Amino acid sequence: NDKEFSRDCCSEECVSKDPSLNHEADFMENVSVKNPSEVANVQRGQPKVSFADIGCGFGGLLVKLSPMFPDTLMVGMELRDKVSEYVKDRIMALRKENPGQYQNISIIRTNAMKYLQNYFQKGQLQKMFFLFPDPHFKERNHRRRVISVALLAEYAHVMAVGGILYTITDVQDLGEWMKACLDAHPLFEEVSSQEQELDPVVTLLKRATEEGQKVERNSGDTFQSVYRRVASSSAG
Ligand code: SAM
Repeated sequence: NDKEFSRDCCSEECVSKDPSLNHEADFMENVSVKNPSEVANVQRGQPKVSFADIGCGFGGLLVKLSPMFPDTLMVGMELRDKVSEYVKDRIMALRKENPGQYQNISIIRTNAMKYLQNYFQKGQLQKMFFLFPDPHFKERNHRRRVISVALLAEYAHVMAVGGILYTITDVQDLGEWMKACLDAHPLFEEVSSQEQELDPVVTLLKRATEEGQKVERNSGDTFQSVYRRVASSSAG
């Protein structure tokens, strides 16, 4: 199960179906927190993860979010084994250097497109991030994109009503694709630009991650979409 993954690899053989083989034990250990005071996601005394960074790469976003939301548990999900190991070591080092801090972030190596539902309950997540996802340029590979109308139904399932989904890319075609998928989905509505300006997380999207910093160094354009999970109209 410790195959090395290429950057764009998300084929069926990549990841075991048994989540326990996908570092879930580490994850459970890592998410234990000192101050489990987050009200919305504390059920039966057990704090639950509220933010998920899908395809988190080297973990830059988690590291930035951790001190901003010290009482919120968040997890990165990353397909590549070596990259997820790097993130795990990075978090451990930060915890060692900063006693009492960075206890609220963790990492799972998994194929989030396939196994997301193994990790979260219905309505659990307050925020989901898809920052600079792999573009899968060729049309026949569009089905591998991490945002699609079908996958949005899965994301909507694990998101709380009112939760926010953030995407950003430097690939215009992908940015338009993600926006079109979100516009087409009845359980998501675009967050107004005024509201986005007031959201401190939005300012992180462009440069918190390693990929974002690379794009910024090259003065590349970015295309972002910020959408809210809404209740289904039939449910009222
Ligand atoms: N979000 C990070 C950033 O902005 O720096 C990483 C961006 S990188 C271009 C895309 C990442 O998504 C890669 O690290 C890749 O391994 C990961 N990835 C691709 N498909 C995935 C999947 N199905 N589940 C989890 N991670 C995935």
